[in-house]
Amino acid sequence: MILTETIYQTAVELHRQAAIKIPDDARRAVERIHEREMHDLSKYVLGQIIDNYQIAVEEQRPMCADTGLPRFFVKMGNEAQIEGGMVALERALRQATADATEAIPLRPNRVHPLTRKDLNNNVGVHAPDVDYSFEPDGEWLDLTVVHKGGLFGGDYRMLFPADGILGIQRFFLDSISEFFRRGMSCQPLVVGIGIGGSKDTCVRLAKAAACLRLVGHDNPDPEIAKLEHELLELGNSTGFGAMGLPGDSAIMDVHIEIAYTHTGGMPVAIQHFCFAHRRMTARISRDNQVEYREDPQWFTPYYCREEVE
Ligand code: SF4
Repeated sequence: MILTETIYQTAVELHRQAAIKIPDDARRAVERIHEREMHDLSKYVLGQIIDNYQIAVEEQRPMCADTGLPRFFVKMGNEAQIEGGMVALERALRQATADATEAIPLRPNRVHPLTRKDLNNNVGVHAPDVDYSFEPDGEWLDLTVVHKGGLFGGDYRMLFPADGILGIQRFFLDSISEFFRRGMSCQPLVVGIGIGGSKDTCVRLAKAAACLRLVGHDNPDPEIAKLEHELLELGNSTGFGAMGLPGDSAIMDVHIEIAYTHTGGMPVAIQHFCFAHRRMTARISRDNQVEYREDPQWFTPYYCREEVE
C-alpha cells in the first residue's frame, strides 16, 4: 500500500529539486549550444545561464525567480494501491504544492483569471494541473513535477492534410519567429509539437512533448524523428540565439508527439519549455521506497499504443 504521507513528502521534495536543479540532459544541451555559438552577445548570455544553473545548486535556491506554473504528471502501475484512493492522492499533491510554495519558496503565481485573487500558495481552481496515465501490471506510482515556464510560447493551428510537412514547417516558423522576435519564453528552449488528435489532445501532447522527454532523445518512429531533426535545423537557421538576441541556436531540441486524428484535418500545436527546464520524477514502490530520477519515462510503448489489444 502506498501511503499518502509518502506521496506528500515526495511531492514536496520533487518541487524542491525541480525548482533548483536543471536536469543533466537540458544543462548539457545548453552547454553544447554555448560552445558552438558564434555571436558574442548570445554566447555571453548562454554563459550566464550556465553559471546561474550552478549558483542555484550551490545556494539551494530556485534557478529562476519566476518558478512558473507547478504541475504534476502521475503515472500508475495497474496494481498500485493508494491509501485513501485517488482523492487522497490529489489532496496530498495540493497540500504539498501549498507547503512547498512557502518552504522553498516558489513564487505564488496562480491567481483567479479575472479578479486576480491570489491564495499565495499556487493552489486554486484546476491548479495545480494533474495529468494521469497508466501502465499494465506495476504496483508503483510515478510522480513527475514540472515547473512550466515559457508562458507566452504556445500556439495552435488547424491544418488540412494537403498542407503536409510544408504546412507544419510554415506554422512552426511563423510561431517561433513571432515569439523569439518579441523576446518571449526565454530561449534556448525545447519546442514541443503535438500533431493530430482533437484540439485539446493536440495541445496536451505538445506540452507533454516539451516537458517530459529527455533533451536530445528522438521519437522512436523514424519518420517523426526525421521531422524533429528537420525542424530543429530549420528553427536554428533563423538568426535567433539566446533571449531573442542574434545567434545560431535558440532551440535546444524539437520533440514531436502524435495522435490519430479526424481524416479531414491535421491539427498542430506548439509549446515552448524555456531554459529553466524544471522537471523531476520519483517512483514510489509498494513498500514506500522512493527513487528519484530525471527521466519521466512518460511516453512508453503502452501509452502510445496503436492497436486494439
Ligand atoms: S520563461 Fe522561463 S526562464 Fe524566462 S522568466 Fe519564465 S520561467 Fe524564468
